[in-house]
Amino acid sequence: MLISTYTFLRVSGSEATGKLAYHVSEKKIYMNAFEALGLNEELVQAVTALGFEIPTPIQQQAIPILLSGTTDFVGLAQTGTGKTAAFGLPLLNLISRAERHPQALIVCPTRELCLQITNDLGTFTKFTKGVFTEAVYGGASITMQIRNLKKGVQIVIATPGRLIDLIERKAIDLQKVKYVVLDEADEMLNMGFRDDIDFVLKNTINRESIWLFSATMPPAVRAISKNFMSNPKEITVGKKNSGNVNIDHQYITVAAHHRYETLKRYIDFNPGMYGIIFTRTKLDAQDVAERLVQEGYEIEALHGDLTQQQRDKVMGRFRQKKLQLLIATDVAARGIDVDGITHVINFELPDDMEVYTHRSGRTARAGKTGICISIVHTRESFKIKQLERMVNAQFHKMDAPSGKDVCRKQFFHFMDKLMQADVTHGDYETYMADLMEKFKDVSKEEVLQRVAALEFSHFLKYYENADDLNAIGRSNYSQRESSSSGAREPIGRSDRAENSRSSRQRDNGYARLFINLGTKDGFYKSSFLQFILDESNLNKEVLGKIDMRDMNSWIEVDKAAAPKMIKSLDGKKYNGRQVRMNEADGGFKRAGGEEGRSEGRPEGRTEARKRIPMRENRD
Ligand code: AMP
Repeated sequence: MLISTYTFLRVSGSEATGKLAYHVSEKKIYMNAFEALGLNEELVQAVTALGFEIPTPIQQQAIPILLSGTTDFVGLAQTGTGKTAAFGLPLLNLISRAERHPQALIVCPTRELCLQITNDLGTFTKFTKGVFTEAVYGGASITMQIRNLKKGVQIVIATPGRLIDLIERKAIDLQKVKYVVLDEADEMLNMGFRDDIDFVLKNTINRESIWLFSATMPPAVRAISKNFMSNPKEITVGKKNSGNVNIDHQYITVAAHHRYETLKRYIDFNPGMYGIIFTRTKLDAQDVAERLVQEGYEIEALHGDLTQQQRDKVMGRFRQKKLQLLIATDVAARGIDVDGITHVINFELPDDMEVYTHRSGRTARAGKTGICISIVHTRESFKIKQLERMVNAQFHKMDAPSGKDVCRKQFFHFMDKLMQADVTHGDYETYMADLMEKFKDVSKEEVLQRVAALEFSHFLKYYENADDLNAIGRSNYSQRESSSSGAREPIGRSDRAENSRSSRQRDNGYARLFINLGTKDGFYKSSFLQFILDESNLNKEVLGKIDMRDMNSWIEVDKAAAPKMIKSLDGKKYNGRQVRMNEADGGFKRAGGEEGRSEGRPEGRTEARKRIPMRENRD
């Protein structure tokens, strides 16, 4: 920031001519942009050392307000916007280093975020002496945390559960807490910490301000602001509930049973990707990860069944980029804060559209660009429209890459790596003479060809007869379009329309089965699926869409597996009632039906399962 300009005279002499020369110069004095926000010198020095040159929008707007210390504040900003520094820097500026008791409390949803914030505060105080912080979170020794708190700290960074525990044990004194920061408030409420947050706010009665940060503003977050804050200043970075403008939102439309294959293709098509894949359920995360690992991909799953130690190990490997990909459920991914994510892949769209914002916010952080790509089912197109409205951005429809596209991309990626290889270290010189002799009759073209053949024969072989994954999605869509808009077909659901649709379903590889069991029999969708799969000894990958009603249900089952399912279930007794299962002859009633767990790959219809080693996955 330019703070002043002044002119001065410079006098210089020339020995040769003996004349003096007068120069009028203009000198500009610049003030560091963080200093201009009111931060002290040590903090400015620290952010400069971190390479922060310009405050991000949330920092620009929040820091001057928060430095007052007495203003309640609501910041609507996602992770990746620089919000940790937006509250961390003013906090560090405000606390009294001479006093060794908690003056600031930062509450956040997860252990990861807790550690991340603590770590960030550590880097911000690189040049500030006498600041003591303590992270308190579940899954670690409470005794150690109590001991550290007793030594005297000014800032406590806590997850709600452990904090309540410490309050109840009277191991933490919140009487002199002046500033309470609620970070990722919407996430904390989603995770069911509402009462805990109320409890914490009721136990910090001498506070001077609350600073609330949230990516979204659902009513529950609004309620905190209404109940506990007075006249808060509200700042929104970007549009409310909107995604980051640096995110390119894309989607690929495929038939449900091609989800996995599409994912794999997309990964192969982006050899330099460093990404997170999201699934809706823990089982899907495990299942997809297992299949990908078997096929040679560098991926691990993050889910609720991992111990904290296992979770830390996975996260450590991912952060160090030893893992190219992480697959996670939304719950398990909470608080993951990793820089440099190039791709977020929605293996399925989330049920809750706001979750999409959280998922996509893992990429395009700190001014970088990123891609959030969703693999969507042909019937989910309407969800894309909803999302476009929600994030206020256009979504780009992409084709699932063809086998040829993948090979080409991998080939050039490899060739780029080849050209960038560092040959300055290593004892190559020793062998050069022999090599030159050996290759004296081989042309450069031939060497290249041979290298390519060696490296790519596995890819070429795998993809040589690859299906066009888009074909089904496209033809389905166009057929549906034409059937619904075609003049010869009556508007509404004629039997003819239903029957033609049902035959299309079969063309997709599914048979539609009717069964006289439904929700009135005490089934939920998941228990029902478990029941039919257990009875027929089939695996869930054979299933397509499930439509459950009170008394009956309709199930899409892979054609090859349908006879076995009918044989296993038809005529069986369930709760004293005779089960009837047969191929559905009427319409497949879709209204209100949800999508089943249909992302599997029916055996024998898709590409051969082969291990493709990902030789070089990272850029
Ligand atoms: P956050 O939203 O706090 O998780 O920050 C996201 C990333 O942006 C972190 O890696 C920060 O180190 C980085 N960051 C924060 N503020 C700035 C800034 N003013 N300039 C450059 N990078 C920043």
